[in-house]
Amino acid sequence: MTYPDYQADLAYLEQFRDDGDENVRLLEPLLAFRLSRAYRRSERLRGFLRIESAGRTRDAQQYLYDGYKRGDAGFNLAANPDRIIGTRGGFTFRGSWHMAQEDGFVYAVDLTHHGALSWDDAHDDLRSSGLHTTVPGEPWHHQATTIKGPLPGPFPDGTTTEDEMTPELEERLDGLATWVFNGTTMILKRLDELQEQLATTKGDDE
Ligand SMILES: [Zn+2]
Repeated sequence: MTYPDYQADLAYLEQFRDDGDENVRLLEPLLAFRLSRAYRRSERLRGFLRIESAGRTRDAQQYLYDGYKRGDAGFNLAANPDRIIGTRGGFTFRGSWHMAQEDGFVYAVDLTHHGALSWDDAHDDLRSSGLHTTVPGEPWHHQATTIKGPLPGPFPDGTTTEDEMTPELEERLDGLATWVFNGTTMILKRLDELQEQLATTKGDDE
């Protein structure tokens, strides 16, 4: 499900790689389309926004996960490639949004900004091309598609879905709210535990 300019857009995006080794060739078509559109329309993005992490193969994800599980030096937290993120229309998303899925594509891109560009300004330009932050607390992480389907924005065929409150968008936001709520509840519970531990420790000292 690519579009006529897909390969040209991937080639265009390569100049915005941060270190030059980011694998932009794996980006799913809608993400590639919207990201190249955003760059073409914004001088400040071209000047100051770079692609920090585009995607990795399933094998690379397995390698990172194995290293993390063994506790090898230099390995950070990495998702199990077999972990199920969700299923939509018979398509199952697994592992990480940055891992190539069963269709061979990666559905997220991490961006980084240099110099005079703030995240607020970068987000304005990115959102107007249909690129949205989808992970709370990660202003660099952007997707054009989630488990519920394409997020609002322009499509290669010239159509645009507006950033309005459709029932589907509302459902997505509900999902996000639940996620944030659960996260917050978890953190508060953990804080309570820590406070309790602290109180106990204090008791021991005294
Ligand atoms: Zn990310």
